[in-house]
Amino acid sequence: MAVLWLDEISAGDLEKVGGKGASLGELTGAGLPVPPGFVVTAGTYRSFIEDAEIDEELFEAVDVDVDDSSALADAADRAQELILETPFPDDLREEIVASYREVGNGEAFVAVRSSATAEDLPDASFAGQQETFLNVTEEDLLDRVRECWASLFTQRAIYYRQEQGFDHSAVNIAVVVQQMVDAEKSGVMFTSHPSTGDPTMIIEAAWGLGEAVVSGAVSPDNYVIDREDRSMNVTIAEKKVKHEKDEATGQTVEREVPEDKRTQRVVSDAEIDDLMDLGERVEDHYGEPQDVEWAIVDGEVYMLQSRPITTIDEGSSDAADAEGVDPTKGVTDGSGSVQAADAGSADTANASGSGSSSGEVIVDGLGSSPGTVSGPAKIVTKLDDLAKVGEGDIIVTEMTMPDMVPAMKRASGIITDEGGMTSHAAIVSRELGVPAIVGTTNATTVLEDGQVVTLDGDKGSVLEGAAVEPDEETEPVEEVRPQSPVKPMTATEVKVNVSIPEAAERAAATGADGVGLLRTEHMILSLNQTPEKFIDENGTDAYTKELVDGIRGVADEFYPRPVRVRTLDAPTDEFRQLEGGEDEPAEHNPMLGYRGIRRSLDRTDVFAHELEAFRRLYEMGYDNVEIMLPLVNDAEDVYRAKECMKEAGIDPEKRKWGAMIETPAAALSVEELAEAGIDFASFGTNDLTQYTLAVDRNNEHVADRFDELHPAVLRLIGDVIETCREHGVDTSICGQAGSKPEMVQFLANEGITSISANIDAVRDVQHEVKRVEQKLLLDSVR
Ligand code: PEP
Ligand code: MG
Repeated sequence: MAVLWLDEISAGDLEKVGGKGASLGELTGAGLPVPPGFVVTAGTYRSFIEDAEIDEELFEAVDVDVDDSSALADAADRAQELILETPFPDDLREEIVASYREVGNGEAFVAVRSSATAEDLPDASFAGQQETFLNVTEEDLLDRVRECWASLFTQRAIYYRQEQGFDHSAVNIAVVVQQMVDAEKSGVMFTSHPSTGDPTMIIEAAWGLGEAVVSGAVSPDNYVIDREDRSMNVTIAEKKVKHEKDEATGQTVEREVPEDKRTQRVVSDAEIDDLMDLGERVEDHYGEPQDVEWAIVDGEVYMLQSRPITTIDEGSSDAADAEGVDPTKGVTDGSGSVQAADAGSADTANASGSGSSSGEVIVDGLGSSPGTVSGPAKIVTKLDDLAKVGEGDIIVTEMTMPDMVPAMKRASGIITDEGGMTSHAAIVSRELGVPAIVGTTNATTVLEDGQVVTLDGDKGSVLEGAAVEPDEETEPVEEVRPQSPVKPMTATEVKVNVSIPEAAERAAATGADGVGLLRTEHMILSLNQTPEKFIDENGTDAYTKELVDGIRGVADEFYPRPVRVRTLDAPTDEFRQLEGGEDEPAEHNPMLGYRGIRRSLDRTDVFAHELEAFRRLYEMGYDNVEIMLPLVNDAEDVYRAKECMKEAGIDPEKRKWGAMIETPAAALSVEELAEAGIDFASFGTNDLTQYTLAVDRNNEHVADRFDELHPAVLRLIGDVIETCREHGVDTSICGQAGSKPEMVQFLANEGITSISANIDAVRDVQHEVKRVEQKLLLDSVR
């Protein structure tokens, strides 16, 4: 038998039908209302390649050096071609088509989904199971099945298996073919409270297909029901759009909801009862709370998917707190003497028995990365000095640069003369989790090389002597961070900023909904040559490859969560320090100069190689990568960049891309930017504040005037959010201000789509967003 029907399958059939197939079979077997369908088994895929005798060639083709991007691309092409061009044997074709005809009398639209069997892969999504085709009919069915099989051999999947040491020939793939439900209404249901586990069911519902709810395209109605007495709290949302099947093309389209149904309650009391009965059965069946996707058509309730709720707090963070370590706030590189940021420094010093002296404040500045640490100061005035920075030392320098990152990782703290809260030193040290103070104006002259000091990254002060001694019992924060962080459920997405690819793992462990800003500057600046110089000496392919490798590391870590990658935006003063920097224009004010999209549109030849990196990533299957354009001023910038994307072989209609809102001009032109086709607008408040208030963000002399919460800045932001909402464009923030509670409150109230925060702030932002959303909900029903 090439296929197994869902009602013949149980959870034990994982090897034959893959994770998705087994779960649907298990639910069907339990008598739950799952739409009918069958699975083309993994064994069928295996016989297909073996009977056609393409198996050996296939596995040989993908045995390549995956760090060689062109070899990897050729391997994926060859492997996919082998599968896609091998005809189906007659008996197999007949069996699959005959099975299809039994589903919905041969007239059904079906969903065709790959279901990989390599469940021991840490992230089975890499095995190719992401491929999904909706609204498939008999005509395309066999091609789609073959495409699912071929999805085992995307560049991404090959790369990942090789990196993880998995044998390509040991991974199999099954394909689920299931009747599509033309939902009139649909949504999700948590069978118990998703953060407390209390016996409270939460149902979210909107008109049409569930995708609209899952993707966040629509704000759904919310029903909170006590499972004991079934008392209910209902919040009706305004549901402006719905997703449904277009009768003519069979494609899923977004349509407006008619006026009279927008504020109409979606599910009736009787339907709520049906859903609750269903929820209780599923939870009983699995013995743990479930997150269920459901749909209703002609009064019938269907279950489309069920998985365990992974967000219930089992006290892991409380346990960490009880030990005096807040998992979101502790900072250490494991080498210096470090304590949790929110524990009093003197207490801890005493508690650890160090009995050290805590002297007076000798230098102060802006506390830019939290934590308190003691160690010898190492004055770094030139790059050669970096060699003397050892584990546990405190770097003292005018300003950090990309070359310093390896030493910054070794150091236990960083102090700079220059810079504001959004400077390189501030951003990178926060990302590395190293306490830092910036903008002291005089640390390199006041402090002496080797002098033992204590740096308080919260208060921004440097004290004489060691207030904290090395304490063996202090655990590195990575070890105390809960493995599956407790993540509050929020409608506003909370993402994370990444500026150095090395921080990707730490960033992903926060449980953020994706990366709201991946800066590419480090990938280039750390080459120590300007892009033009690097290309001159190493060729365009090497340049593209650096970007592919840097971005891929982060995109892998987060897949399938989205990663918003910004095209290059380094001011000329940063390029000037690199080899080739002598050719950079001399600028009076680099912040107002040749940077961001201006440089890209001026050097479209260099920009093309950058965009080529995106094209290759898409080709490899990194469909979670989004493109973000820095420092645009108006629609003209966007149209020109869009042309460059097309010339580089990137289809702007197919990929998600957008612009940063970093100048007042961009904020005031956002309607035109929306018309130019951006999918999202992201506030770069570091620059937006600088340009709105005419306050140089790197100038410590005016640092007290740098105020992202200035009414003028907030007004620009609020107006952009409103305009974007009217035009269906997502909004987000990726400047440092997204980590500040006051800004988070303002943005969540304004209805921003996502907030991207620093790694160490993600958890607090999630909680802050949740608080605001709950208040909004309560206000709306009071
Ligand atoms: C910003 O300007 O807020 C931003 C996120 O970009 P950068 O800090 O890299 O200029
Ligand atoms: Mg910026």
